[in-house]
Amino acid sequence: MSSYDVTIIGSGPGGYVAAIRCSQLGLKTAIIEKYDTLGGTCLNVGCIPSKALLDSSEHYHNAVNNFEEHGIETKSVKANITQMIKRKNDVVSQTCAGVKFLMDKNKIDVYNGLGSFIDKNTVKVQHKDGTDTSLTSKNIIIATGSKPNFFPGMEPDKKRIITSTEALNLSEIPKKMLVIGGGVIGLELGSVYGRLGTQIEVVEFASTILPTMDSSLGKELTRALKKEGFKFNLEHRVQRVENKGKSVVLTALNKKGEEVTFEGDYCLVAVGRKAFTEGLNLEAAGISANSRGQIEVNDHLQTSATNIYAIGDVVRGTMLAHKAEEEGVYVAEIIGGQKPHINYNLIPGVVYTWPEVAAVGKTEEELKAAGVEYKVGSFPIKALGRARASMDTAGLIKVLADKITDEVLGVHMIAPRAADLIMEAVVAMEYRASAEDIARICHPHPTYSEAIKEAALDATEARALHV
Ligand code: FAD
Ligand code: NAD
Repeated sequence: MSSYDVTIIGSGPGGYVAAIRCSQLGLKTAIIEKYDTLGGTCLNVGCIPSKALLDSSEHYHNAVNNFEEHGIETKSVKANITQMIKRKNDVVSQTCAGVKFLMDKNKIDVYNGLGSFIDKNTVKVQHKDGTDTSLTSKNIIIATGSKPNFFPGMEPDKKRIITSTEALNLSEIPKKMLVIGGGVIGLELGSVYGRLGTQIEVVEFASTILPTMDSSLGKELTRALKKEGFKFNLEHRVQRVENKGKSVVLTALNKKGEEVTFEGDYCLVAVGRKAFTEGLNLEAAGISANSRGQIEVNDHLQTSATNIYAIGDVVRGTMLAHKAEEEGVYVAEIIGGQKPHINYNLIPGVVYTWPEVAAVGKTEEELKAAGVEYKVGSFPIKALGRARASMDTAGLIKVLADKITDEVLGVHMIAPRAADLIMEAVVAMEYRASAEDIARICHPHPTYSEAIKEAALDATEARALHV
């Protein structure tokens, strides 16, 4: 039986990053993954493949809609979904191979198979060929991630009623796709197919899309996506979805309580994800999952068994790859005897639509609920020279600052390249900058980052320069 200082179950961004940091700290480390490739949801069926398809569809959309205005003439532009999926698969394979390379480079032992507890120091790996291996370990990190969620009546059949996993592998461009859930997955994968010509019809339970983000973002994104042809049905309670062979029919109750039906050729179910612990045999280690299926952890991400930790989507908090990575490093350093820290308030969130949406810190709704007095500064993207030059004029940047101290409490943006722009706000907030600190920093011209400076100037003393 092989023995380790640390054994990690699950090789997503939480697990594989934890493994690398453990190895850097001189800990003998093993990682177990039930699938053939490493990288988890993020690399195989999440962040990376969705962004690959978002990029391909964005090129197509620009070629069809914007090239002519830029003075670029093309004969005929055609979307080849087979090639798009193939390129996406190549990107995924290369990225997963990169993780295997990192495991080898860091001398981390990789075991392919289902990991399950024998006791709190022993994990059995059940291999695909029916054999098994037992590992003993001083410490164990559970990083088993999440799976798509659904509610009664909308069970995916994976053919016409699909989850994000199938939506990343369609062999045709749908004519009409119904999307249950106007959250991150619904809007990102809806954008992929919407840009390729699919009619996207979103059915959302809440009164806005992106309901957990600052409400200004959902409003602005609704406008932008409607221009791309999206249809939104808010405050609709889905009753059932039926596969009719070549089509799907969705029945929902609208806000008046009337039954309404929608028909499409596919229905994407995107109503959140749930923590995944199946097959782990947690009881053998003396651990149990809570009513939401998550593993309970304390502030040190330690479970009720003190040598077992849990990180990423399988524990509380946002289900984001970078949050899982931070937790992976955190736990490795705790095991290594260090005193790490995670600032959960400063985990940025990004939605890769176009314009992109990004945010960090508190929303206006959260500040109001907490009774914090705050100032708002905002700046429209259309007022930037950079935006006019690139014909990307939709969006805004909003800076929320404490009314008395001027400390930045939240930054919310819908803008071209917001996914990268948000990091200026994260760095500023980590160092507890005031809005005036940001406003006084020289920003390069012409860039989208000038909108952050202008919004900060507006928050400081309503002294934005270019509106
Ligand atoms: P996972 O990545 O889910 O990895 C868990 C791994 O554990 C899996 O490989 C699984 O096979 C393995 N496993 C489970 N049980 C066992 C077992 N018993 N034995 C062995 N192995 C096991 N987040 C972002 O930050 N940015 C994005 O752009 C983004 N886009 C996304 C797009 C989509 C379509 C989806 C679905 C998700 C996206 N996410 C994104 C979320 C992101 O993928 C997750 O937050 C992240 O992957 C969580 O990492 P994790 O390590 O906790 O778990
Ligand atoms: P989500 O929580 O972002 O959105 C789910 C949406 O479905 C919400 O708007 C919710 O109000 C709605 N909803 C819930 N129940 C419903 C019902 N019965 N009928 C109609 N609407 C309903 O979840 P998601 O989009 O499935 O994404 C899952 C997770 O994956 C998220 O936590 C997200 O953080 C992560 N993810 C992140 C990214 C990114 O960072 N860019 C991309 C994709 C996924």
